[in-house]
Amino acid sequence: MSKLNGLLNRIYDVSLPEPEDLERVLALDRQEELNELFSFADTVRKKFCGNGIVLRGIIEFSNFCLRECFYCGLNKNNRKLERYRIDKDELLKAVEYLASRKIMTVVLQSGEDEGLDVLWLRDIILKIKSSFDIAVTLSVGERSGDDYRIWREAGADRYLLKIETTDGALYSSMHPQMDFKQRLDCLQVLRRLGYQVGSGNIIGLPGQTLKTISHDIIFFKRNDFDMIGIGPFIPHQDTQFAGQQKGNVELSLKTIALTRIVTKNAHIPATTALGSLDRDYRMDGLKCGANVLMPNFTPQPFRKLYEIYPQKRCIDEPQGACNFCMDEMAKGLGRFIDYSKADSLKQGRINSNV
Ligand code: SF4
Repeated sequence: MSKLNGLLNRIYDVSLPEPEDLERVLALDRQEELNELFSFADTVRKKFCGNGIVLRGIIEFSNFCLRECFYCGLNKNNRKLERYRIDKDELLKAVEYLASRKIMTVVLQSGEDEGLDVLWLRDIILKIKSSFDIAVTLSVGERSGDDYRIWREAGADRYLLKIETTDGALYSSMHPQMDFKQRLDCLQVLRRLGYQVGSGNIIGLPGQTLKTISHDIIFFKRNDFDMIGIGPFIPHQDTQFAGQQKGNVELSLKTIALTRIVTKNAHIPATTALGSLDRDYRMDGLKCGANVLMPNFTPQPFRKLYEIYPQKRCIDEPQGACNFCMDEMAKGLGRFIDYSKADSLKQGRINSNV
């Protein structure tokens, strides 16, 4: 057994790894060692998630946002961005189309839109759940416990709320008027309400260190998240972080691999951000621990306006182009597309039928 294999086995075996062990792995840079790490993570993915690549169809229904996150093109200070809200009929049409393409999970995503009415979204959820046999994931940011409860009671199954970074000081430095503790509280409320909960981080944020990332991974494990999204930071020209250095792809892949080894059976996407760099690295993500793809079903012409970061992937493709692309990716890896709802793999968390 190589020294690295011993270290990876130790990280795999313990219930909570030491941050120093994770940091050592995050610092690897020799190609043979990276290959060993990625192959180890791929074996863990196969053992706990199988060979299916799970699909989550995303519809970005509003790009209004009241927040000022320094890394995000939707932040309210970006006056250059044309804002949109998709109306109910058009949103339901997009969901119908997604369901017709055999996608069994819709992710309804928006900025933190103060114009988002709790009952409007409740009615959308009720309509979706009574019309289609699909899971509903929400990703609309921090809201009150009452809003989360109303949507959950309407049938929403899952909620995504990325922590972005678990370093409280770093978090505060790039999220004006936001409270790190409030974000943690939201995650707890979502869990208590019985949502399958997703979180995640951004790799390469200015000021982030390997130590920060190792603590992020421990946070994912401690909270036993059902889904974990990890993507590289891509600077946007109309944000506070314009001109900053891009997140490192290799470090993003190492983080995905380690998160797989540590969390075992969380759903981990090969994120769109990974596909939006100098080339498409989603295949690489799928080879080192990821098991999810997130095709975009936001109708045109809105898709290009949901510009969290520039050069986002798949913004010009017509609706429906994704299935072919996903199938090709799966075939190329000797895997298959799993067209099921693919609920949480965590025991006792399958709650699609509330
Ligand atoms: S990251 Fe989310 S909350 Fe922050 S500005 Fe972008 S859309 Fe708004």
